[in-house]
Amino acid sequence: MFAAVLAVLGAALAGEVRVDVIDVGQGDAILIRTPAQKTILIDAGDRDSNVLAQLAKLGVDHLDLAVATHPHADHVGQMEAVITAFPPKVYVDNGMTHTTQTYEGLMRAVEANTAIGYREGKRGTVFNLDDGAKLEVLLPGDTRFSNTRSDLNSNSVVTRLTHGDDCFLFPGDGEEPTERAMVDMGVEQCDVLKVAHHGSNHSSVSAFLAAIKPSIAVISVGIGNRYGHPGEETMSRLGASGATVYRTDRDGTVSLFSTGKGIRVVTEKAEGEHTALVPVAGMPEAHADTGEKASEPAPSAAAVVIPVDAEACPFPASKKSEVYHEAGCGNANKISASNLVCYPSKEEAEKAAKRSAGCCNP
Ligand SMILES: [Zn+2]
Repeated sequence: MFAAVLAVLGAALAGEVRVDVIDVGQGDAILIRTPAQKTILIDAGDRDSNVLAQLAKLGVDHLDLAVATHPHADHVGQMEAVITAFPPKVYVDNGMTHTTQTYEGLMRAVEANTAIGYREGKRGTVFNLDDGAKLEVLLPGDTRFSNTRSDLNSNSVVTRLTHGDDCFLFPGDGEEPTERAMVDMGVEQCDVLKVAHHGSNHSSVSAFLAAIKPSIAVISVGIGNRYGHPGEETMSRLGASGATVYRTDRDGTVSLFSTGKGIRVVTEKAEGEHTALVPVAGMPEAHADTGEKASEPAPSAAAVVIPVDAEACPFPASKKSEVYHEAGCGNANKISASNLVCYPSKEEAEKAAKRSAGCCNP
C-alpha cells in the first residue's frame, strides 16, 4: 500500500509539468518535461557523471531543447554525449567560449549535427511549451557582466519556467552581480529556486532571496565536494528566507510536480521520510489522491512548438573561429577564450583562461 502511494506520488499526473533536479554529484543537470512530453535539459553534469544513465532511468527518449548555462565542466561535462544520443532541436548557451577540451568537443558536436539549431540565450528569448508552460531567458542581457569574480559564472543563462501559477527559477552558477541585476529588473516572486552555484557563499544574497521568496530551494551539490559547497552563510540565508531546502547530496534526485496550482516534491532517498507535499499558492489538497486536474487556463492552440526559428540562428562564426582556429597555434588549448591569441605553452593558456574566467571554480 505504502509503495503504491509512492508510485503515484513519483509519477506525473495528467496535466503536470515535472522537473527533476538530478543527483549528478558536484554539478548541475535539470530535466523538465511537460504534459505533452516536451523535454528540456538544463546542463549535463560533470565529465565523470552518469547523466545518460540517469536520463534513461527517468524514461527520456528525446530532447527538444538543451541549455548549457555556462561552459564550466561541471555543467557541460556530459553535454556532448547527451546531445549525440538525443540531438535537441535547439541548443542554447551564453555565447561565451572556453578553452577546455570538454567545451571544444561539445562545440564540435553542436556544429557537426545540422539538425541542432544553435541559439544564444539572451533576455527576451521565450520558449513556448505545451499546456501554457513557458521557459523564459532572464539573463544575460544585451551586455554581459565583465570583471566580476567569475565572468563565466556571472553570465550563466538564467531561465524561469512558469506553468499556471507555479514558477521555477534556474540561475545556473550566477553570482551576486547576476542576482543583483535580477533584483534591479524587478524579478518576480518564484516558488522554486534551484540554488545558484551549488550553494556557494558567492550567491543567494539576501536581497535576491527577499525578492524571490522561494517556498522550495533545491541545491545540486556533491557529497564531500572540495569547494565546501553549500556554504554556511548561504545555508543560513536560505534558512532565514523560510524556504524548505532540498539537497541532492542528501536527498538524491529531487523531483517536483507542478499542477499549475501547486507543487509536490518527491525525493529519491529516504522514501517516505523525505517525501513531502509542499503547498504553494493554494495547491488543491485532494490533487494527489484524486488525480483530478486542477483548473488551469486553457492552453493556447498556438503554444506547442519549441522553436522556432532555429534555422535563423546558425552556429556563430565567432565561436567557430575561436574554437577551431589552429593556424599558428597548433593546438586549440593554446587559444584564449576571448581572442585568437597563441600562448607558448598549455600552462600559459590555462593561466590566461583562468584570468579570463575570473576564477577557476566550477
Ligand atoms: Zn557549477
